[in-house]
Amino acid sequence: MTIVSLPEIMDPAFQQRYGVAAFNAVDDITMDGLIRAAEESRSPLIIQISVKTVLFWGEDVIKDMFTNMASRVAVPVTLHLDHCPDPAVAETCLKAGWNSVLFDGSKLSYEENFVKTGEIVKMAGKTGASVEGELVAVRGVEDGIGSEQEGGLLPIAKEIEFIQETGIYCYAPPIGTAHGFYKATPTIRYDRIQQLVDATQMPMVLHGGSGLSNEVFSRLIALGAAKVNISTDLKKTFADGFRTYLEEKPEEYNPLKLIGSVKDDVTEMAKSYFKIFGSEGKA
Ligand SMILES: [Zn+2]
Repeated sequence: MTIVSLPEIMDPAFQQRYGVAAFNAVDDITMDGLIRAAEESRSPLIIQISVKTVLFWGEDVIKDMFTNMASRVAVPVTLHLDHCPDPAVAETCLKAGWNSVLFDGSKLSYEENFVKTGEIVKMAGKTGASVEGELVAVRGVEDGIGSEQEGGLLPIAKEIEFIQETGIYCYAPPIGTAHGFYKATPTIRYDRIQQLVDATQMPMVLHGGSGLSNEVFSRLIALGAAKVNISTDLKKTFADGFRTYLEEKPEEYNPLKLIGSVKDDVTEMAKSYFKIFGSEGKA
């Protein structure tokens, strides 16, 4: 069994300054394709799941699928709940044995978010799970959560206080990246992530990874982004995989060939990110 906690995966990545990819799996095909990729690349991996996906399958089905698939490989993997604004959903996942959750209180006031995040940290502690925190909304809507506006920046002292005093393990800083497809090249606030890491020595999480250049990834990972979220590119690979296969083989009706082909596409995509993020060979 190679299911480990989020810190067991992110601590070495943060210390050695490589990034661990966190892909938003949506089903068995994507989950197995990603886990196989990690095994083939000898890379650690974070499987993360959106709230919509939890509501679609149920937290137990996802956990059981993950446990079974992860038990077949020798690399460390962990199961994480992505952007969750609802403490009740976070609680059901934690009770089902998930390893970590992102409590997204970015719509709340600073004070409310601080208190609620602290409560989730306590709840997670009971099952040995970890919490990612978020204070300022990352721009872009992802699976129905978020807004087209990035939240207003807070004084950095407030961010540092939130990171250090809520008990979170890692933090999603607002640094100019966005969910979805980039319409223009984003202006990244490298100074902000640097200041946060210098002040807290805690690992950061890069949201909106799909579409950034390799140079941006390298700089942010070097500054302390130890978890790099990839959702949009997985969705694209998944949908394009079906489209391409069916267009190229209109007479083919073997479902296992079709989903096998899509799974291979997902595996190849994941392996390319392990190379870029420097996690290849680290497990
Ligand atoms: Zn995100």
